[in-house]
Formats: sequence, C-alpha cells, structure tokens
Amino acid sequence: MSEIQQITSVVRRKKYKTKKKPVYDVIIIGGCVTGVSTALLLQKAGLNVALLEYSKIGFLTSGSYTTHLNAYYDALNNDIVQQLDFDSLKLYAEAGKDALKLIESNIAAYNIECEFTPAESYVFSVTKSQEPVLDNIVAVGELVGTGAKYTEKSPFKIPYTKIAAISGQSTLHAVKYISALLAEFKNLGGYVLERCRVLKIEQENNIQLVYSSRGKLQCRKILYTPQTSRILNLKPFRFIPYVHYTVAARLDKNSNTAIAYDAAQPCHRFIAYEKDGDHMLAVRGEDHRVVKGKRREVYFHRLEQKIINHFNAEEIIAKWSYVYYKTDKGLPHIGAIQGTDRYISAGYNPDGMILASLGSLIISGLILNGHSKYENLFPAKADKMTPSQMGRLDEISF
Ligand SMILES: Cc1cc2nc3c(=O)[nH]c(=O)nc-3n(C[C@H](O)[C@H](O)[C@H](O)COP(=O)(O)OP(=O)(O)OC[C@H]3O[C@@H](n4cnc5c(N)ncnc54)[C@H](O)[C@@H]3O)c2cc1C
Repeated sequence: MSEIQQITSVVRRKKYKTKKKPVYDVIIIGGCVTGVSTALLLQKAGLNVALLEYSKIGFLTSGSYTTHLNAYYDALNNDIVQQLDFDSLKLYAEAGKDALKLIESNIAAYNIECEFTPAESYVFSVTKSQEPVLDNIVAVGELVGTGAKYTEKSPFKIPYTKIAAISGQSTLHAVKYISALLAEFKNLGGYVLERCRVLKIEQENNIQLVYSSRGKLQCRKILYTPQTSRILNLKPFRFIPYVHYTVAARLDKNSNTAIAYDAAQPCHRFIAYEKDGDHMLAVRGEDHRVVKGKRREVYFHRLEQKIINHFNAEEIIAKWSYVYYKTDKGLPHIGAIQGTDRYISAGYNPDGMILASLGSLIISGLILNGHSKYENLFPAKADKMTPSQMGRLDEISF
C-alpha cells in the first residue's frame, strides 16, 4: 500500500467508525487558481481535500477581460535571468511550458469552454537602450529553447528598433477555467467552503487544527495560497506590494490580434484579441512599488497615450489596477515551509496564472510523491527562521 493509500484509508476508516468530523488529508486556504488547481490534482490522486475560501471562488482574478497566459512568465525579466545559472534557467523555461501544458491538458480532459486561444507574440525594443534586454531574451530563448527569434514583422504600429517573435503565449477566461476545475473537484467528492475566513491554525501532534469563521476543521497538511498582504504575514517570508495597471479599449474591426511586449523593465504588454466579434485591446504595465502619494491617474494616462498614439481605438472601455506581491528576489516561494506540514505558493508577478498552475504542479508533487522536479527553483525556505518566527506561521488575520 502506498503512502497516500495509507493516509486516505486511515481517514476513511475513522470517518466511518466514529462519525466524527473528517480529518482532511489537505486543507487549502484560498480558492483562486492555485487553490482550485491543486485541490483537483490532489483529490484526483485519492486524497481527501477541503478548499476554504474567504469570499467566492475565483473572485480575485479577472472575470470580465481576457487573461494572458505567458509561458515565459518572468523569463523576460532581466533580474531573474541574471540570478539563475544555465541549468536553473533551462529548468525555469521547462517549468513554464509544463504549467501551460497543465492548463491545456485540463481544458482537453474536462472539455472546458474558457476561450483558450494561442496567440502570435512578439517582444520589441522601443529605444537603443532597451536593445540589450531584447538581445538577452533572444539569447536566453535560444539557449533554453523557449523560442525567440528576430523578425522584421510587427503586428502593431508601435515604433521599434528591434523585434523578435516568441512562443508560448495565449489567452483565456480565467473565471470560466477556474469554475470548471471547481466543478470537477466537487464531482470527485472534494469539499468546498465559501465565505469561510481562516482565522488561526494550531498543531496537535500530527493534526493541524484550522479555526475559521465557519468552525473548526482538522487536517494533516495545509497549503496557503492567498497572494494578499492580509494573509502574507507568514513571517519570515517577505513580500513587497506592487501595482499593475491596465487600460482596455475597443479597436477598429480591421485591427490585428496578437500579443507584444516592449523590453522596458518592467515591460508594457499589448494584448489585442477578439471577443464576441469585437476587437479588444488591453495595454498593461507601469508597475511600481506601492508607496503613498503615487497618483493612479498618471499611470493610466501613460497607458492611454500608447493606445491613442499607436492603435485605431474606437473607445476606452475600462481601466483597472491591482496589487500583486513579489519576493525580494522576484522569484515566488513555492514549496514546503521548512520543518512543517505546511506548504506555500505565493509571491507571483502579473503572470500569476502560469505561476499558480506551476505552483499546483510543484505542491501536488511534493505532497503526493515527496518531491518535485522544480522544487529547488522557488524555495519556500526562509533564510533565517527562528523558533519564534515559526510561531508566527499560525498568525493569520484577514
Ligand atoms: C483584474 C486582474 C487581472 C489579471 N490578469 C492576469 C493576466 O492577464 N495574466 C495572469 O497570468 N495573471 C493575471 N492576474 C493575476 C492572477 O489572476 C493572480 O495571480 C491569480 O489569481 C493568483 O491566484 P492565487 O490562487 O494564487 O491567489 P489569489 O488570487 O490571491 O487567491 C487567494 C484566495 O485566498 C482567499 N483568502 C485570503 N485570505 C483568506 C483567509 N484568511 N481564509 C480563507 N481564504 C482566504 C482570497 O479570498 C482569494 O480568493 C490578474 C489579476 C487581476 C485581479
């Protein structure tokens, strides 16, 4: 009998004989893409999983506009490229592809209608000073096989000094995707509690006691997925809040559909797609650290100017910003929290959908098999973790 079979059979026997509340194999805190995707992988493998969500499942992602899936995730970020040695970089590139494969295989296996569309994609330099970044992206792409090649063709009228075609980009409707995974999880007997705020966690021997606004639950392992600061007082992990801006427009019907980035650090993204016969554009970027006194209008205005100057826009239809949380080094923490039965997958960048899917692959590998091919890429190990800091892992407030 495998380790997992042993765990589940013990749980089920106990449940049957005593009629006590179940001891879940895993409780997942947070029902957005990381939580739902991991819950499904674990439940499908035979574990008994409970998914606890403070609000409604999937409410922290975009349900109105298309979500960009970037299998490069932050491989376009020079800082990250410079931190990793060649072997890690190769693994990093492979991980992005595997995360995209997980999404594609879920869509195929569960026949999910979520507007998944692979997209023609480019990265370009706007100024000579951006060219070294672009050269780096192409060189790294060649080395690690992520497919970036110089070209002369551009889908948009944005002036550039150099441009390269890249692969591994697509778009989908995030909420439709998450809802379909959730339905499969429930079909397999997975337990979901919405409007359930996790307040405190304690440990008694090997059992974790999860105190929530909807009562006490018990489990053997816990996964934290919230990306919000309110739950990220998981000291000693450090997460820094950044703001990401988007302006969306409706374009002229003859406009091209494609995705392009500039090589600014951080980059601007131009995502042109079709929805219900309309040609839409989302221009994103102007990311900065959250600091007092920054005026959002300034950043929205800059994005708007890019639309006005380079596209045939019929109207600006929406503007929004959201906060994401980065780690000091820009790489998320995904893995087991040192010396505990608790796991974390957090600290993503604006390419959170891919990182969340990757997180669900890594965490389910660790829980089910005790290892993951990518476990060392995103260490959930804090540099210096003292016993008192470990105590802080229980302190969750929302
Ligand atoms: C408007 C918008 C557009 C986006 N566009 C893109 C895009 O184009 N491409 C892309 O890759 N990414 C995009 N993202 C980012 C992406 O959606 C996120 O990175 C992704 O949702 C992260 O999912 P998650 O499950 O890891 O965490 P989260 O989305 O943070 O979900 C965690 C969940 O935990 C819950 N929670 C928090 N505290 C508690 C508690 N105490 N008890 C119980 N539950 C709790 C929260 O309610 C939340 O639902 C976008 C995000 C937004 C908001």
